[in-house]
Amino acid sequence: MDSKQFREYAHQVVDWMADYLETIESRPVCSPVEPGEIFAQLPENPPAKGEDFQRIMADLDRVIMPGITHWQHPGFFAYFPANSSPPSVLAEMITATLGAQCMIWQTSPAAAELEERVMSWLGQMIGLPDGFQGVIQDTASTATLAAILTAREKRTGYAANREGLQGQAPLVVYASGETHSSIEKAVKIAGLGRKNLRVIPVDEAFAMQAAALDAAIGADLEAGRQPLCVVATLGTTGSTAMDPLADIAEICRRRKVWLHVDAAYAGSAFLLPEMRHFLKGVEQVDSLVFNPHKWLLTNFDCSAYFVRDPEALVRTFEILPEYLKTVADSAVKNYRDWGIPLGRRFRALKLWFVIRSYGVEGLQAVLRRQMALSRNLRDTMEADGRFEILAPLSLNLLCFRFRPAGMPEGEALDSLNRRLLEELNNTGELYLTHTRLRGQYTLRLVCGQLRTEERHIEQAWAAIRLIAESLQG
Ligand SMILES: *Cc1c(COP(=O)(O)O)cnc(C)c1O
Repeated sequence: MDSKQFREYAHQVVDWMADYLETIESRPVCSPVEPGEIFAQLPENPPAKGEDFQRIMADLDRVIMPGITHWQHPGFFAYFPANSSPPSVLAEMITATLGAQCMIWQTSPAAAELEERVMSWLGQMIGLPDGFQGVIQDTASTATLAAILTAREKRTGYAANREGLQGQAPLVVYASGETHSSIEKAVKIAGLGRKNLRVIPVDEAFAMQAAALDAAIGADLEAGRQPLCVVATLGTTGSTAMDPLADIAEICRRRKVWLHVDAAYAGSAFLLPEMRHFLKGVEQVDSLVFNPHKWLLTNFDCSAYFVRDPEALVRTFEILPEYLKTVADSAVKNYRDWGIPLGRRFRALKLWFVIRSYGVEGLQAVLRRQMALSRNLRDTMEADGRFEILAPLSLNLLCFRFRPAGMPEGEALDSLNRRLLEELNNTGELYLTHTRLRGQYTLRLVCGQLRTEERHIEQAWAAIRLIAESLQG
């Protein structure tokens, strides 16, 4: 592809992108293809000779697009959103064009220095107190693993890296029963053993019971084990429950245990001063992660990891082979030592484009609008009388089920709601997912897609009512 063709095709691709976004509502939100359907359409062998760009684009539309689930569709209410936005996409195109591998300062000084600056902006934007430093990771899973590894090294005087964990009394991690699966994964990868993850019970709002945490730590100390790290979740994946951070922080300080906060989804909400009461106690926290790639209009991947003690982080991950030494090392940040991979994408650029394009107030307005939409829908559902709200609405995730009058708890009720979810998703107009809360089958509706407006919520509500009534028979 020469420069003239590149220019021509690039314009064509941008038109494709704008057309896609303008007409996205005409597509089924969740891809309806069967397993293997896409694979079977792809040639068994790679092409020996280069193919025409127009043929590739035609196959993109013909073969690939039917197998795409449209996360930027305004009817996307599933999981948590992975919002993109026009400025973010444009920055990502530039990142790909530069093709810079930003592992150390010298491999692109602007990438390192912009990252330092936008992470400082983000910290201010969510009201983090002074004393935290930030770094961009690929995902919250990686950030949480980094937190547990750093806690492990600091606790063992960096002996675990040197000698392994042999001979250590068991190191114990604590999290609630509503915690994300990435915590268990991190405990396993860090070599601590899954049996040393304590699952702390939750209260009626699905938040960790601080007294039970304190008791569990006490019991481990008594048994000669080493309490290592507590993971507090702000905004659990099941129901966006908020663990009581101030109480947990007090326990962690008194017990001298690392406190990591997983605010993967909810972190963006702390751009709103009226939501920051959930952050009370954050000045005691050792590390915190949240994902601009979920709710903050920055396309996947971009996870913001904040630490109070960057030295401990760097000491945990530092490597310095001869071929990576540079004269600037003592004066600059080499982010390769702030996480697990050596190679790093230039992710700060899209964050910079997003924050500058929307401004803090513009981003706040988006968050407030979506939270108001979900409050209205909750009120509508409650007024209907046939739907149950199964968890407090703390942000914009509505947990509910259809429960016709007189229908008892049990398998029939679960199965009614399973069918409701299936038929809703089959309409192609919207996409919801489910969870279980107190063992009960629960539909989750997250109102956090950038393009979702009031009319989409009205459509969703109409579909939910209609299908629920038809299932009731
Ligand atoms: C989404 C989510 C995660 C995982 O995020 P990744 O960036 O995909 O690793 C972790 N914790 C919570 C609470 C989440 O909602």
